Amino acid sequence: MTDKTTDADQPVQYIKGVGPKKAERFKKLGVKTVGDLLFHFPMRYEDRSKFKTIAELEVGEVAVIKVTVKSARAMFRGRGRRMFEVAFADSTGILRANWFSFSAKALTARFAVGGEWIVSGKVSFNKYRGSKTITHPDTEAVTPGDQEESLNFGHITPVYPLTEGLSQKSVRNAAHTALKYLEHLDDIVPTALNRRYKLPSLATSVRRTHWPQEGADIQAFAEFKTREQKKLIFNEFFLIQSGLALKRNKAKKTYPGSGMKVDESLISKIKKLLPFTLTNAQERVLKEISADMGADSPMSRLLQGDVGSGKTVIALSAALIAVRNKKQVAIMAPTEILATQHYRSIIGLLQDTGVSVALLTSGSSAKKQAYENIRSGKTHIVVGTHAIIQDAVGFKDLGLAIIDEQHRFGVTQRASLIGKGSRPHTLIMTATPIPRTLAMTLYGDLDVSVIDELPPGRGSIVTRIYQQSNRLSAIRVVRDQISAGRQAFIVYPLVDESDKLQLKAATVMFEQFKNEEFEGLRLGLTHGRMKSAEKEEALGRFTKKEIDILISTTVIEVGIDQPNATVMMIEHADRFGLSQLHQLRGRVGRSAHRSYCLLMAEAGHGNPAWDRLRIMEKSRDGFKIAEADLQLRGSGDFFGVKQSGLPEFKIGNILRDHKILSEARKAAFALIKRDPNLSKPEHAQLRRALTERWREKFELGEIG
Ligand code: ADP
Ligand code: MG
Repeated sequence: MTDKTTDADQPVQYIKGVGPKKAERFKKLGVKTVGDLLFHFPMRYEDRSKFKTIAELEVGEVAVIKVTVKSARAMFRGRGRRMFEVAFADSTGILRANWFSFSAKALTARFAVGGEWIVSGKVSFNKYRGSKTITHPDTEAVTPGDQEESLNFGHITPVYPLTEGLSQKSVRNAAHTALKYLEHLDDIVPTALNRRYKLPSLATSVRRTHWPQEGADIQAFAEFKTREQKKLIFNEFFLIQSGLALKRNKAKKTYPGSGMKVDESLISKIKKLLPFTLTNAQERVLKEISADMGADSPMSRLLQGDVGSGKTVIALSAALIAVRNKKQVAIMAPTEILATQHYRSIIGLLQDTGVSVALLTSGSSAKKQAYENIRSGKTHIVVGTHAIIQDAVGFKDLGLAIIDEQHRFGVTQRASLIGKGSRPHTLIMTATPIPRTLAMTLYGDLDVSVIDELPPGRGSIVTRIYQQSNRLSAIRVVRDQISAGRQAFIVYPLVDESDKLQLKAATVMFEQFKNEEFEGLRLGLTHGRMKSAEKEEALGRFTKKEIDILISTTVIEVGIDQPNATVMMIEHADRFGLSQLHQLRGRVGRSAHRSYCLLMAEAGHGNPAWDRLRIMEKSRDGFKIAEADLQLRGSGDFFGVKQSGLPEFKIGNILRDHKILSEARKAAFALIKRDPNLSKPEHAQLRRALTERWREKFELGEIG
């Protein structure tokens, strides 16, 4: 390690003015080292090169002014609503600032009469008070030292994200001091690439992003459109993509003679077991998978396919290829219901084939025997939940690991399963279509197959939004379907398993439905808190058509396959992500009958939540919906849970910066292809960054 790295890796306390207390607070912002501080970028900028006067302010503009406190007090504003008002003045007039949620004590103390402040926000005109007003402005105290330092005025000034106990000024000061260490930053992007993509130097880019030059276009900075920001974003993506490229290279190592035997006759034998002919998309994907399994390097493939597109039979076909090659197969699913369902459909298809299939969940009995059979190789295919990755489970020879609904598992769980074999083929399946940009980041090391076609004979799904006032019409649709011999789902989506309120809603409504709206019909209830045997029972009765309406929380989101169910009513639909709704909806429309998806909304027309649901009315294409969902909610929330595998970017945004992402990916993969061990001197910085910071993340082990 050179001195160069040491300096930027110093704890942030190394910066003048940052003591242990502040260092603790910086940690909350993700800033631990001087280098982190350099990459803690402003969220916006204010042009403080010249302040306007109050008289010059125009209504509607976003203004920055320097003013003095005349008075500050809490007051009533009719209908019992409290408001805090500060009157600020300069030589030309008065500007009032309002707060509507506040602690009067804190604000009174903050805005002492005579105090000087920089106030910014959108100017409006309050006709009752007869003055220009800013509601909930940003405010920054002017203190005597400020002028000399000249950090806080006289130019375009950065405004940083803060955390409790850190003032704008102390962050600004610290970040400014950190610029001294700029030259200690190593640029991981080789010179040739910087030239090709016309990227400015790293040091200049960091400096300018903190402190734009005089006359810079701060709007462009605010929108992350400057060359300097492009450089920083490129670097961030490039590092990750290089890591993914390395990981992929490593996974794709060839072991001569290790390929499985996959020939036409095996494939056609497998197809004969299936009760239907494969769709074109399934055929294509099966070809891709069998080519992988026949090759001398382990498969690592992501299989994407909308709900109901028929991934299970593809997984099963892959499993049979492995079994016929005398290898074992593990299929891991996130819930007991899903695992059980896979197990059932697999044993159904494999009757009389001599293939031995076992189900392993935490609730399984006779575990010892199951473990023994897996270890001895007597069991060929194990289907299960997390129970499969317990230490006690050892395989004789695991040749294929299949992970269903991968996004529900963490990176380490995926690794543990793969670790149960020696370089097994891996097939990762997801029914949540993943937008391309997200897939590139999350699964950028995998090959991707897509089933983009539904099996034939699927009826249309009519999706309609209902307001509560129109609830009876929705109930009527459900009743009509049941009179026609069909079945229904009523879903209370659960935000998380501990969401008691929703749970209660499902149970309470079950009683009400039974006695009122759906009196005389056969109702069943299932939710996440039920014992799995009870859940199984309810689902079993639904599949056997002993129940007309299944009321449930989102436990049915994945897995249930009952083609006779043609209507799904989703309560509080506007609270949930589009991808999740799409998943739910995929439980109907599985037969030739027309199906209905009724979205019960609390929001009314014109409300953003309502507009969001309109996307569901318009589209049945999972990829389109996923893209819209990602746009609306951002990548962190995309899966509804914090995605454990998604890197946190300091400046890059995969949606906004998708072009840069593609460029960085292309460049990174090409570079790793040319220099797979990063042994060239011009790649030393990249190599160091990857080994020091990213080894674990990318499971890289030793590079080279
Ligand atoms: P998913 O992709 O959601 O896992 P499944 O594998 O559960 O979808 O398949 C959904 C339904 O479609 C199942 O009932 C399955 O038997 C059926 N299916 C799958 N492939 C075909 C096909 N090629 N032709 C007809 N039905 C199919
Ligand atoms: Mg499935």
